[in-house]
Amino acid sequence: MDSRVEGLSVAAEAEMYRKRYGTTPAEADHSTLIRMIEDLLNEGLETQVDPFPETDREFSAILDELRGLPADALREKLVISGWLLKPHGPDEMRCQECMYFLVHRRWCDLPELNLPAEPEWWCRLWRI
Ligand code: SF4
Repeated sequence: MDSRVEGLSVAAEAEMYRKRYGTTPAEADHSTLIRMIEDLLNEGLETQVDPFPETDREFSAILDELRGLPADALREKLVISGWLLKPHGPDEMRCQECMYFLVHRRWCDLPELNLPAEPEWWCRLWRI
């Protein structure tokens, strides 16, 4: 698939992180990755919250989009997964209750994401 979000190539995106954080998402430690994610969302990155995948087929289709993205394509990962820095929906879904959340590592263990996460965050790949 096209490895660009908002016209930014993965290489240009990696360079942007290197300038700002001194490293890229592929090489960043946990706390730096958390900062990168928070900065992107707080600075207005809009993610694809809808549609929420109701079936296995829809869920797999999103995984297919994510699979193969380089670790430095952080914006694209967040956009496709519908990442938010807060709980979502009337049921206040959040990472804390998601089957992929590793509580002690504060990490999303879904291989297609493989990113740090906070208990109060959410993405549309949420599952219990
Ligand atoms: S899949 Fe989404 S909701 Fe679940 S832990 Fe990962 S980021 Fe959080």
